[in-house]
Amino acid sequence: AKVSAELIWFNGELMPWQNATVHVMSHALHYGSSVFEGIRAYDTHKGTCIFRLEEHIKRLFDSAKIYRMNIPFTPEEVIQACKDSVAKNNLSSAYLRPLAFLGDVGMGLRPPADAKAELMIAAFSWEAYLGADAIENGVDVGVSSWNRLAPNTMPTAAKAGGNYLSSQLISMEAGRHGYTEGIALDVNNQVSEGAGQNLFLVRNGIIFTPPGTASILQGLTRDTVFFLAKQLGYEVREETISREGLYLADEFFMTGTATEVVPVKSVDGMQVGTGSRGPITKAIQEAFFGIFNGSTEVPDNWLDPVK
Ligand code: PMP
Repeated sequence: AKVSAELIWFNGELMPWQNATVHVMSHALHYGSSVFEGIRAYDTHKGTCIFRLEEHIKRLFDSAKIYRMNIPFTPEEVIQACKDSVAKNNLSSAYLRPLAFLGDVGMGLRPPADAKAELMIAAFSWEAYLGADAIENGVDVGVSSWNRLAPNTMPTAAKAGGNYLSSQLISMEAGRHGYTEGIALDVNNQVSEGAGQNLFLVRNGIIFTPPGTASILQGLTRDTVFFLAKQLGYEVREETISREGLYLADEFFMTGTATEVVPVKSVDGMQVGTGSRGPITKAIQEAFFGIFNGSTEVPDNWLDPVK
């Protein structure tokens, strides 16, 4: 989906959207050397707030650290820049995309030791990633023939641009087969994650999700589900899940910043549970969206006002 806003933050200044361009010799374009975040701002009872902003920016710097990338701004400056990007565009809710990348630092895989990353932050309106009725009615997904990145190949803990070549293969294949999204198995052929979502299933009233060792990005929405489930009195187990485990789930849902919390109604053409949103999925969703109208209590710093 083509997105836009009036202003974009690029290397320390807010500028017109169309002016934020890079050179075709940018390192990131040739070698994938970028790290990024996806963050949402919601129109809440406390005004427009960015959800778990501090932790998203921490993850951005963690991703950069793994790739020895030097971001020439402090986390505090990036946090402020995110808020400005929403506020100065007069957005009451938004998706934010901070991206640090190596620009025109020269050819050759290994960047110069003193190379500084460039940093941009876009904030724009972006509604339901998996479609407007997905939240209520759920989506159809299929297990991909592409496995997720194997440990010690490319670290899935880093939210790096290059990782999303794997996600693109998974997502494009899913689209060709008529699914809304693709599910990847890890190198051991156990359930890993969606192209851009973490996965949860429910069986006999217990919530299961693949462990951190399953080549996943340990999403902040995933962590939010842990928090909400505990408040609601549900047990969450981080456990290895087999492909057939998906088929036998009573409920199945996916989480992510763009996706939010979305039920899955079929896997590989097989109906999940009753085929409509299950009660635990619904309870988690209500608790999740309740964060943004004040009906669900969360730690204070999870909702950071943009002004
Ligand atoms: N896994 C992948 C591969 C993702 O791209 C995302 C989206 N950032 C997630 C999981 C979910 O992470 P989060 O809840 O932090 O958005």
